[in-house]
Amino acid sequence: PPASAMLRSLVGSEMCIRDRLIINQLQYSLMVNLMNNAITQNVPSAWYSTLENFIVKGKNAEIWDSEDNRYLDFVGGYAVLNTGHLHPTVVEKVKNQLNDFSHSCFAFAPHENAVKLSEELNKRYPITSDTKTFMVNSGAEAVENAVKIARYYTNKKSIISFKGGFHGRTYLAMGLTGKDKPYKEGFGPFPEFVKHALYPYSYRDISDDDALASIKDLFKKTLNPDDTAAVVVEIQLGEGGYIPASNYFLKSLREICDYHNILLIFDEVQTGYGRTGEMFGAETVGVNPDLVTLAKGIAGGFPLAAVLGKAEIMDTIHDAGIGSTFGASPISCAAALGVLEAFDNENILGNASKQSEMMNSFLKNLMNENESIGDVRGYGPMIGVEIVENKDSKTPSKEKAQEIINNCRDNGLLLVTCGENGNVIRFMGPLTTPLSHVEEALGIFKESLI
Ligand code: PLP
Repeated sequence: PPASAMLRSLVGSEMCIRDRLIINQLQYSLMVNLMNNAITQNVPSAWYSTLENFIVKGKNAEIWDSEDNRYLDFVGGYAVLNTGHLHPTVVEKVKNQLNDFSHSCFAFAPHENAVKLSEELNKRYPITSDTKTFMVNSGAEAVENAVKIARYYTNKKSIISFKGGFHGRTYLAMGLTGKDKPYKEGFGPFPEFVKHALYPYSYRDISDDDALASIKDLFKKTLNPDDTAAVVVEIQLGEGGYIPASNYFLKSLREICDYHNILLIFDEVQTGYGRTGEMFGAETVGVNPDLVTLAKGIAGGFPLAAVLGKAEIMDTIHDAGIGSTFGASPISCAAALGVLEAFDNENILGNASKQSEMMNSFLKNLMNENESIGDVRGYGPMIGVEIVENKDSKTPSKEKAQEIINNCRDNGLLLVTCGENGNVIRFMGPLTTPLSHVEEALGIFKESLI
């Protein structure tokens, strides 16, 4: 029975206001305990949740928990809900699809939505030659497949990825990931053919040229460029600390790849679909890859991922060499078409750019007056706030970042951290968030600082 009913039957209905307040608090902790017990008894402890209560309702940038607490959701299911919780167009498309059929394995029985979506992605992604799209379920699976395709096409073995990069939790994706804790620790060994270069990080004195030199160093010491199939890179590190890469760096990567016949793979799982201000990060930085991975926001909260690339590369694989039972799920594809319709009809990118202007100027002002904010950075609304002991030492402070996040949560704003040291607070709210809610979120952030 609900905890509130149990308590009411225990204490009866004759209560003064003070008793009621005490009962409310008791009821709250009882509920939290019941939920936590249910969680700890049934799911592994490593799969912990940050929020104490079950979430019961979501609408655009707001969510409500089982205790009717309302939060502004700037986690957005980890940068998934670019079009917010339950976008009406997405909901309508999914409902319509459910009237017809819910699943068909595309490799056996194709369906129109998957082809329409591929056509849309091929048209929209800024690769200039003919493009083809293949769909899977998750970001990690997309990255695995991109590498698979690159190795097949080039007939080469080695792969370069970056320190601080994150590409998912399957074995190759973990191998590509350049952040050990908590993702890789204890799970090795990882594929030897993956080598990590430095990612530029100007706040911590790693320049673009340092990072490029580290690739040349790999070529001198551990990697044969003639046996290197691909470079996998994020346009802005996501889990690695919201660190944007410059046009110069990515253009230079493009040149290195072209020189050695290496494929350039952009992992746009987190940067895609408006997060960097443009529809795709490639547009923001003005550099085009050979292959790209997309996931997270592309289906408005339904599981879907894609590998998209030059047709010449995508078409080399032999029949049935790539595939997936649930990839291109009709429901997810319907949702994904709804997401694109929303982007087309609602000027979501315009709202994203207003959001990023507002957040950037507010957070940069805060940085000037607060000793704990060392850096504010990122493309478009994909903003990270680096928390330090103080501006002079620049010592990363995970503890302060966590305290600020806890204060924000208690004040009704949900945020999470990222970065090698867990000290970067990132903003991943829906790009459809009304500006009044952005303003409210920034106000809460300011009042929650320490
Ligand atoms: N690539 C990047 C850049 C990501 O940020 C993530 C997830 O955070 C992934 C890949 C893995 O995606 P998924 O969790 O859907 O497997």
